[in-house]
Amino acid sequence: MALTQMEQDLLREKIFAKVRELATEFGGALTYNQLMNFEIDGQRIALVGQRGIINPQLFDATLTVTSAAEGPYDDHFDENGILRYKFEAGDPRAGSNRKMLVAMETRTPIILFERPISNLYVPYVGAFLLKADFEAGHVEIAVDSTIKAQVEAGMSEVERRYATVEVRRRVHQPLFRARVLSAYDRRCAICRLNHADLLDAAHIIPDADEGGSASVPNGLSLCKIHHAAYDRNLLGIDPDYKVHIDAALLEEIDGPMLQHGLKDMHLTEITTPTTKANKPDRDKLAQRFELFMAS
Ligand SMILES: [Zn+2]
Repeated sequence: MALTQMEQDLLREKIFAKVRELATEFGGALTYNQLMNFEIDGQRIALVGQRGIINPQLFDATLTVTSAAEGPYDDHFDENGILRYKFEAGDPRAGSNRKMLVAMETRTPIILFERPISNLYVPYVGAFLLKADFEAGHVEIAVDSTIKAQVEAGMSEVERRYATVEVRRRVHQPLFRARVLSAYDRRCAICRLNHADLLDAAHIIPDADEGGSASVPNGLSLCKIHHAAYDRNLLGIDPDYKVHIDAALLEEIDGPMLQHGLKDMHLTEITTPTTKANKPDRDKLAQRFELFMAS
């Protein structure tokens, strides 16, 4: 049974809200099974599948597209936060491509899933298809309405520099978070807390710094309190993965959070990912640890 346009918009909004909620709960990314068996209002609507473009019958326009990053640290976004998504093979105006063009023409928001590693889907809810390049065989997708507006307005040099920071925050940060949390099995490296919505992906060397990158070895999965303590240099991690608590803090006497959450962590070893390539970079830890020692 065909839905009216208003019913489609409402259902789309509901799906968006639920995907956002699930992503928050599960550390910024979802699995194939979660998306395959996705249910809303008691009906199952698969959000992923064999194809990259998902066009449920209920909708006139595409609902989701999935883009698989090629390298372990790369993604498909350019410096403006735009992703070029290839048409499905064949006629770019037919098959699955047709509803994608409908989404573009009607400016209907979609969910873009970026899959940096297998079975890890990072959702960008409310992405927009900007334009189609039939010659090159792709459509351009902006991850959200802000990026869309920036691109459409054209930008001055100052705006562009500011936008780069914004793009990093909006586009690359979700991928970084998903990769890091997944590498640490959604636990804090220091206290092992296992609640994804209380975890952050902390940078060892800040993102904007020379040498700071959004790759997993420059990251640590930390709970909110340990992340804040690390950023404030109240807590340091040496290149041998040992935790150090600020000397003044060790002298302080206070309640259980200070005692168990911080002081008891002194000289314990952090839990690192089992995959060697994902372990924290010792040179970066050393560089950062100097800052802790100097503070
Ligand atoms: Zn912690």
